[in-house]
Amino acid sequence: MTPADIAFAAAFAAALPDPVLVVGKDLRVAAFNKPALDVLPALSLGQHLVHGLRAPDVLDAVRRVAFSATAETVSWRERLPVERAFEVHCAALSLPGQGPSAVVLSLTDLTEALRVEQLRSGFIANASHELRTPLASLLGFVETLQGAARDDPKARENFLGVMRAQGQRMARLIDDLLSLSRIEQKEHVRPSDPLDLALLARHVADTMAHLIAESGAVLNITAPAEVIVTGDRDELIRVIENLIENALKYGASDGAGARVDIEVGAQGREGFVTVRDHGPGIDALHLPRLTERFYRVDTGVSRLRGGTGLGLAIVKHTLARHRGRLAIVSSPGEGAAFTARVPLHSA
Ligand code: ADP
Repeated sequence: MTPADIAFAAAFAAALPDPVLVVGKDLRVAAFNKPALDVLPALSLGQHLVHGLRAPDVLDAVRRVAFSATAETVSWRERLPVERAFEVHCAALSLPGQGPSAVVLSLTDLTEALRVEQLRSGFIANASHELRTPLASLLGFVETLQGAARDDPKARENFLGVMRAQGQRMARLIDDLLSLSRIEQKEHVRPSDPLDLALLARHVADTMAHLIAESGAVLNITAPAEVIVTGDRDELIRVIENLIENALKYGASDGAGARVDIEVGAQGREGFVTVRDHGPGIDALHLPRLTERFYRVDTGVSRLRGGTGLGLAIVKHTLARHRGRLAIVSSPGEGAAFTARVPLHSA
């Protein structure tokens, strides 16, 4: 390439939004744009490409393209310092009537797309597994009822009870999966109606009075006259219900006298509801992952108490749609406090 060609290549690369670099037939770097330097900080003009991009597959492709002028696309993955994946398109730069004088490499970042794909397939695997377990148990009982227990009314009664519980577990899981998918679909649309969070929290506490009494826990609620936030009533009801259910399931399970405190208030430009229990608390290592789908500290305990592992994921996505957030404060032996924040209506 002549100096004029190189200057043109550099100006052209600078006008493109994606990482682009140009190397001569000798694989020395002739030009690159800023996005390319962001991805490959060791790139240096005049140096051999290998110093900026240690990827044998890509280097081989560039050599072939420089020779044959047939474009190729190769993938390039890196694990360190962070995991990332690119598609590298290598095409020869040939002027009319001449062979290739340089190779243009354009990089497409696939890191995010691959991550989303991994999450999606992991999610489907998890959801299927969660449904398969109760389904296998249901089918097992049906078989027993058709065979060995056919004429045993006592066993039949017993098994039907278990089958009902398994059926209910599947129904809960499907309901939660559908809620999650509905919320995700409208996550970009922000609710716009004013809503009194204090009134809502009292209403949820009232509707759950039966469940709370059954668990033997005592619920205290501290709320000012009103806290007007912007929100969707039904969705915020689900958020508060979920947090109270969790406090009862995990934080008040030793029964009689366990206390659950609800506090509603306003702070800065946000209204908040805190649900606090005084149970065993949660180890710090779990806290960042609690809102992941199907993440549980103890899967056995969660299942035993009717958990699906999706409650906090629903809470997180609902709050994201409200442009709010969830904060969790807990340590072992100290109980747990879950605070849902949503913007005040005036803000
Ligand atoms: P689940 O259906 O299992 O309750 P969630 O998404 O609601 O699913 O909660 C995820 C996990 O977080 C639970 O399985 C439990 O291990 C933990 N967790 C949630 N709330 C509490 C709490 N108040 N105290 C202790 N652990 C909790």
